[in-house]
Amino acid sequence: MDHFLYRDGVLHAEDVPLPEIAAAAGTPFYVYSTATLTRHFRLFDEALAGMDHLVCYAMKANSNLAVLRVLADLGAGMDVVSGGEYRRARAVGVPGDRIVFSGVGKTRAEMRLALEGGIRQFNVESEPELLALSDVASGLGLTAPIALRVNPDVDARTHAKIATGKSENKFGIPIARAREVYAEAAALPGIEVVGIDVHIGSQLTDLAPFEAAYTKVADLTAALRADGHDIRRLDLGGGLGIPYARDNSAPPLPLEYGEVIRRTVGHLGCEVEIEPGRLIAGNAGLLVSEVIYRKVGEGRDFLILDAAMNDLIRPAMYDAWHDIVPVAEPAPGAERGPVDVVGPVCESGDTFAVQRDLPHMVAGDLVAFRSAGAYGAVMSSEYNSRPLIPEILVKDEQFAVIRARPSFDEMLKRDTIPEWL
Ligand SMILES: *Cc1c(COP(=O)(O)O)cnc(C)c1O
Repeated sequence: MDHFLYRDGVLHAEDVPLPEIAAAAGTPFYVYSTATLTRHFRLFDEALAGMDHLVCYAMKANSNLAVLRVLADLGAGMDVVSGGEYRRARAVGVPGDRIVFSGVGKTRAEMRLALEGGIRQFNVESEPELLALSDVASGLGLTAPIALRVNPDVDARTHAKIATGKSENKFGIPIARAREVYAEAAALPGIEVVGIDVHIGSQLTDLAPFEAAYTKVADLTAALRADGHDIRRLDLGGGLGIPYARDNSAPPLPLEYGEVIRRTVGHLGCEVEIEPGRLIAGNAGLLVSEVIYRKVGEGRDFLILDAAMNDLIRPAMYDAWHDIVPVAEPAPGAERGPVDVVGPVCESGDTFAVQRDLPHMVAGDLVAFRSAGAYGAVMSSEYNSRPLIPEILVKDEQFAVIRARPSFDEMLKRDTIPEWL
């Protein structure tokens, strides 16, 4: 459920009509709903009620400071994958002991930053990383709490680019080798083993892969405890999918996901962490764009928008399907038909939708892409020298620009022409 509904024939973000934001900020723009972010965080928190748990928002989905502040104020922990994300978490007041550090390629500088600033745990993905962390931590006279990310060799049945839990993926330590690497970790200076970490992929629409992975984690917990390790924390990753198409069958709910967690690891007496990103931010955001032209081609029409693949790369990168709706609610029985929805960038990949059945729209009309709050703005670029588009946060009848569109002057000033040219 989200808070983007038609009211009096106009699509609103909570209580704000989208044309009002378009007039103030210009198109294209991203707009996020505080109520939807809040609701989604609470669904996860409630799904784990009664268990010792921490919901660590995977901020790579949407790391705008205002979005992070909404979640931090609700008590969220944060899952970070870079020094930059660690700094963002700290900038909104998240204490180090609520931050977990994930990622396959942490640098020594990033390890130092988190060790000195405070960290709940590093999710370590390889033996070389383990050795580096031991070296950095002991050099600082500190101890790094760690979980090893195990790769359970489970097929997440999602898009290949976001599947991470198969043995051929670059992530984690093969679960068959886990006992050996845990023994190595326990013997290293500056390292304290606190738990196990697993994350099998993103946009999972079926609970079975979670169940399979978490069952393997439960078995591993017993084996590691028998080996003498104090396994007290399980980080079960993120990955629960969202409905992108409203008419498709719905992915499982956080409550059902919580039941899988209870069933598989609930008896172990461990503190449970989860790292949802997409399900918290995805349906809390829209990308709003204006139609520049309607082009009548050979046998097909094109809606050419002022948004492009540099603003929302998911269709080009993951073949993602986003629901596209007109901001002005079409009258019942209004004319509709198939149209290709494209951006202005000089690549055929700059196509948002092919032969999409949409109400008839023309130049000047506003359109909204639903489910654009996660992996949207964070993955955007200035390709084609198109400035990054603004981000807006709505709360009830208020809205604010939470990242302004840079001016062309600011963009050009970032480059330097050497004086010897
Ligand atoms: C990407 C990622 C997440 C979040 O995945 P979602 O599908 O957005 O929930 C969580 N943990 C790790 C380690 C990740 O890489």
